[in-house]
Amino acid sequence: MSMPMPPATEDRRAELARNLAVVRDRVERACRQAGRDQREVRLVVVTKYFPAADVRLLAELGVTDIGESRDQEASAKLELLCADHADGVTRGAGGGGLGGIEQVHFIGRLQTNKAGHVATYADVVHSVDRPRLLAALDKGAAAAGRRVAVLLQVSLDGDPSRGGAREDDIDSLVQVALAQPHLDLRGLMAVAPLGSEPDEAFARLAEVARQVRLQVPTASWVSAGMSGDLEAAVRHGATHLRVGSAILGSRQSLL
Ligand SMILES: *Cc1c(COP(=O)(O)O)cnc(C)c1O
Repeated sequence: MSMPMPPATEDRRAELARNLAVVRDRVERACRQAGRDQREVRLVVVTKYFPAADVRLLAELGVTDIGESRDQEASAKLELLCADHADGVTRGAGGGGLGGIEQVHFIGRLQTNKAGHVATYADVVHSVDRPRLLAALDKGAAAAGRRVAVLLQVSLDGDPSRGGAREDDIDSLVQVALAQPHLDLRGLMAVAPLGSEPDEAFARLAEVARQVRLQVPTASWVSAGMSGDLEAAVRHGATHLRVGSAILGSRQSLL
């Protein structure tokens, strides 16, 4: 796994603190303009491609939720963080062992053969878009003796190459999710399609989410909005924002 060398810790801490303050301010303002209670909106800081040292600093700055998108990178990072708190605390339902981090979110495209492993450490998997993935996550959660929250990813442009299930397939995916004994269906996730109006995309997502809630009232989470479009996501009812580069900086050079 190649990760950037962080600059001196104090500089990096100041940089993260400053960026975090700007993003929290944006979220607060967006909530105020949308007439929403800020406590309904959870900030998931996407730490993919950045080192465990950054996650430590973020936890010290009050971040409670982190998002990762690759199994190998995420599990290596969490192992390092758990070693910081080697006081007999291990990860399990309800978290623990990771300093101030309460929830680890897996947000990336997930291969079926990696799902079982992801289920051993992720508290929430946002990118569930097919029945086999649900079965594999359930099996992994069962083996680890834990429960995993899942969000169904909706493809808002119907292009499955970027992940997500077609809107027409969401209903049957809901049924499969409800049948898994170790998974909790908590809601939906989407990424605004490239080149689309985020407001249009998130309005659409809000409508699909409303329909799912009619069947499953506890599936009330809507994961939407990233660095560039979090305001639009808040306007359309997002409960979880996944923000990376606005807080950690650009990761372009690593891709
Ligand atoms: C990387 C990633 C993000 C964060 O994107 P930024 O533009 O850096 O905020 C959010 N969601 C998903 C699914 C991602 O892969």
